Amino acid sequence: MTDVAANVARVRERIAAAARRAARRPDDVTLVAVTKGVDPPRIAAAVAGGVTDLGENRVQEAEVKIPAANALARRPLRWHMVGHLQRNKAKKAVALFDVVHSVDNSALAQELSRRTARMLDVLVQVNVAGAAQQRGIAPAALPALLRTIVRLPGLRVVGLMAIAPLTGDPETVRPAFRRLRELRDEVARLDIAETVIHLSMGMTADFAVAVEEGATIVRIGRAIFGERPL
Ligand SMILES: *Cc1c(COP(=O)(O)O)cnc(C)c1O
Repeated sequence: MTDVAANVARVRERIAAAARRAARRPDDVTLVAVTKGVDPPRIAAAVAGGVTDLGENRVQEAEVKIPAANALARRPLRWHMVGHLQRNKAKKAVALFDVVHSVDNSALAQELSRRTARMLDVLVQVNVAGAAQQRGIAPAALPALLRTIVRLPGLRVVGLMAIAPLTGDPETVRPAFRRLRELRDEVARLDIAETVIHLSMGMTADFAVAVEEGATIVRIGRAIFGERPL
């Protein structure tokens, strides 16, 4: 087994342990391996370790790597755009990705809708902690954005995404993850879109806490592929 495949197995064990602590089923959490800065052979090693969902954060990098990684993989892969997406990259993004996690304004949603040739799954990125340097829509503006998106052809809004504030202590991010879960439950009460189910939250530093708080998708890079070169 390669080191990458062994890391995938370890991450899965940690996800399963966190799920059990919260009386959740490990199978309800999808692992997205984030491959920014990782070359196609190492991506293929993760796929050999059982990964089916992969994430990139830049269209330019993804344009080169996704076709190369798909060619090496022996099975169909699902690609997730997890980084900030500019409107002028929407056309390329819909051709490359199956899921976009980072929709945070109606202009971007409209452009994705206009450009996609098939049903595209999207998540709305929320700035749960209200941090100035973080992207994402303010919680108070979320219902209006969701009401816009559900009317757009070609898009299916499947959940919410958040990036926790960067801190050394995973416990300080727990309130942010809890807030995203509460927002999803609020969306359900408002009856805006019954497809808003997924919570994309948790990265290498904090995924166990995210799973305890209800994450259904975790986005993990370094715990699988090692530290990225600066
Ligand atoms: C890089 C990245 C990740 C993965 O981060 P790690 O700390 O390497 O696990 C997750 N989500 C987004 C949006 C990212 O850009």
